[in-house]
Amino acid sequence: MNATTVDTFEFSRLGEQRSGVTPVASFGRLSAEAADAGGELRWSFSGGKHRMGFSQLIMKVDGEVGLICQRCLSPFRHPIDSETVLVLARDDADADEVEQKLDDESIDVIVGSAAQDLLQLVEDEVLLEMPLSPRHTSCPGDAPQVAPDKRESPFAVLKKLNS
Ligand SMILES: [Zn+2]
Repeated sequence: MNATTVDTFEFSRLGEQRSGVTPVASFGRLSAEAADAGGELRWSFSGGKHRMGFSQLIMKVDGEVGLICQRCLSPFRHPIDSETVLVLARDDADADEVEQKLDDESIDVIVGSAAQDLLQLVEDEVLLEMPLSPRHTSCPGDAPQVAPDKRESPFAVLKKLNS
């Protein structure tokens, strides 16, 4: 067992804490999705109990992932900053039941495990946080004062030049 593999129920029961910094390059699925494998993710877990009595882990992840802007096709750093409550269930059937009892969309119910790699949970979370169509808030080539929909299309500009 490596240092990031834990028994989730014990971790929660004992109120354990674990944190670390992991390069994006160590996450196989994530580096395949990202534009480059640069950057790193800071993560932490703390075990405890949900107010309804369920075992839970609070997971925090922050850092940056390199993506390609779908508008200007240049790379940019997409910030990740998330805090997730993971409630533990015994198995899939229990997970459905717990989800109904919680009735809270903001909480993720996962099946607990005696050998859960915490980094896998971190990777799952970051993959979920990645935008389907990544883009800059404002692309570097944009004129700062002009809203994108007010700009003349290149064809309109050409027409003027030719007339
Ligand atoms: Zn852009």
